[in-house]
Amino acid sequence: MAVDLHSHSHFSDGSASPTEIVEAAVDMGLTALALTDHDNLDGIAEAEKAAESSGMQLISGIELSCDWDQGGFHMLVYFLHPEREGPLQDRLESLQASRNNRNVEIVSALNGLGIEITMNQVETEAGGTGIGRPHIAQVLVNAGIVESIPEAFDRYLGKDKPAYVERKRLKPEDAIELAVASGAVTSIAHPHTLGLAASDVRPTLIRLSEVGLGGLECYYSEYDPHERRSMAQLAGDVGLVATGGSDYHGTYKRGLALGRGFGDLTVPDEAVEQLQERIR
Ligand code: AMP
Ligand code: ZN
Ligand code: FE
Ligand code: FE
Repeated sequence: MAVDLHSHSHFSDGSASPTEIVEAAVDMGLTALALTDHDNLDGIAEAEKAAESSGMQLISGIELSCDWDQGGFHMLVYFLHPEREGPLQDRLESLQASRNNRNVEIVSALNGLGIEITMNQVETEAGGTGIGRPHIAQVLVNAGIVESIPEAFDRYLGKDKPAYVERKRLKPEDAIELAVASGAVTSIAHPHTLGLAASDVRPTLIRLSEVGLGGLECYYSEYDPHERRSMAQLAGDVGLVATGGSDYHGTYKRGLALGRGFGDLTVPDEAVEQLQERIR
């Protein structure tokens, strides 16, 4: 028995449809799947329809990029529902507008470097809503500018690289407060990207727990079994739910499977119930 609490569909920068992801999750026997597209809930209705009468629980979620100086802080938000009203749902529109402006600025920055790609090509690559850097990266691959998506980030699109553009983000504390006020529960995604010194990890988690943080993503594709165990221990110590997921993106993250990550991932079922218990 296992779950996957971190996945992306083509409503953001995954390549598969919500229906395809749900069907794959049901086929592999997962008991719950969270669809966590970046900044939007647009794929949830389709995912729920596909999960109906499958016996598998579909958790509506998002992944928010937060304002954080030391590194990349991504907040997973669970049980945030598109059909319920809440202050976080209300903010999603402006977050997406800022994402869209930023995509245009990234393309101009690339043009300024003599790389002639267009926003049109990026939109065609993305095929809909939730356009992000992986789509721009794929256009660079298609144009023969780079050989892979990771190379596009290394040379152009990553933080501090020549075509990097900031966008408006919520502070982690604000994301947590808005999520709680919207009847949802949060978990810090892939905590290693926060860029914290080892001695700062525990105090940071305690501080955010006091604001209402719910969980820590301990069972992540890129962690080895030892890291998963020690993070789950830490989560327990500071009173957070040990959550986990693959961060499946289809062809935008090669070699990474739904549910299983790089082959050795198993996210325990109990995370779902423990998250649900946190909802006030
Ligand atoms: P965006 O939402 O436009 O900021 O893009 C974020 C996405 O880019 C996430 O899905 C990441 O997985 C992906 N990403 C960020 N940094 C890298 C990197 N260095 N190599 C490959 N993918 C990355
Ligand atoms: Zn993504
Ligand atoms: Fe992330
Ligand atoms: Fe993700």
